Amino acid sequence: MAVTGGCLCGTVRYELAEKPRETGACHCGMCRKFSGGVYLGMQVAPGGAQFSGEENIGVFQSSDWAERGFCKSCGSSLFYRVTMPGPGQGVLHIGLGTLDDPDGVLLTGEIFVDRKPDGYAFQGETHKMTEAEVFAMYAPSA
Ligand SMILES: [Zn+2]
Ligand SMILES: [Zn+2]
Repeated sequence: MAVTGGCLCGTVRYELAEKPRETGACHCGMCRKFSGGVYLGMQVAPGGAQFSGEENIGVFQSSDWAERGFCKSCGSSLFYRVTMPGPGQGVLHIGLGTLDDPDGVLLTGEIFVDRKPDGYAFQGETHKMTEAEVFAMYAPSA
């Protein structure tokens, strides 16, 4: 069965080659602003998503290593995409909430946990990483 999703107004639509099994939450300040809440991303390999209505996707370079895509008509947050050259370049983290049927995708990880606003928390066991742990993982090895 086709795995589909899109923005709130329906101008931007996509189809995934396969349904992601898991999602990860990012509590960093950039994801917070981008999503208006908690960003839940599903990792999709470059080319693993076919978009339609692409001319309506706005792209914002949010850091030296990534950009974020949104619908220019309704403002929905669509994806985070790695731009930094390397093995991860082009990898998408599509927002869980943009799936037409987000059921069954498990929350397995949380990053930037030390940046999470203190007024809420997710239930259940997840693999948690702090900001320092995340940057240490992605730091270029000398
Ligand atoms: Zn839209
Ligand atoms: Zn983030």
